[in-house]
Amino acid sequence: MNVAKKHFTCVICPLGCEIDVELQGGNVVSMEGNKCQKGKEFVLQELEEPMRILTTTVPIKGAKWAMLPVRTDKAIPKRLLFKVIEQLADIELQAPIKMYDVILKNTAGTGANIVATRNMKRTATTR
Ligand code: SF4
Repeated sequence: MNVAKKHFTCVICPLGCEIDVELQGGNVVSMEGNKCQKGKEFVLQELEEPMRILTTTVPIKGAKWAMLPVRTDKAIPKRLLFKVIEQLADIELQAPIKMYDVILKNTAGTGANIVATRNMKRTATTR
C-alpha cells in the first residue's frame, strides 16, 4: 500500500513545531517533529477536521475606535470561517461594549459565540 506524506506546522504554542506524518490507508504510521502530545493531537484533529479560533474586527458606532476586535470563544471548523465572517458583515454594534460580551451566539451553528476582546466605551460626544 502506498505511503502518503503530509507536513504540518503546529499552531498550539509559539514553538510552531514542524511535523511530518506518514499515512497508510488513511492511518498515521509515523509522526516526527512534535515536541509534545498536544502536537500529536493537533495533527490528528487536522486530519479529521481542521479547527481554528477566528479573530477579526467588526464595525462599532459611538466609540473612540471604528472597529471592535472580536473572536470565537472556542475553535470552530476551518471550513466555516468564511460563513462566520459573512454573518459578522451584517452586524452593527453600538458602544458601550465590555470585554467578553457576546456579540453573536452559536455562530454558523458551531456552538461557538463571537465575543468582544476589549472594552469599548461610549464617546462623550455620542448621543
Ligand atoms: S508540538 Fe507541542 S511544543 Fe511543538 S508547537 Fe505543538 S504544542 Fe508546541
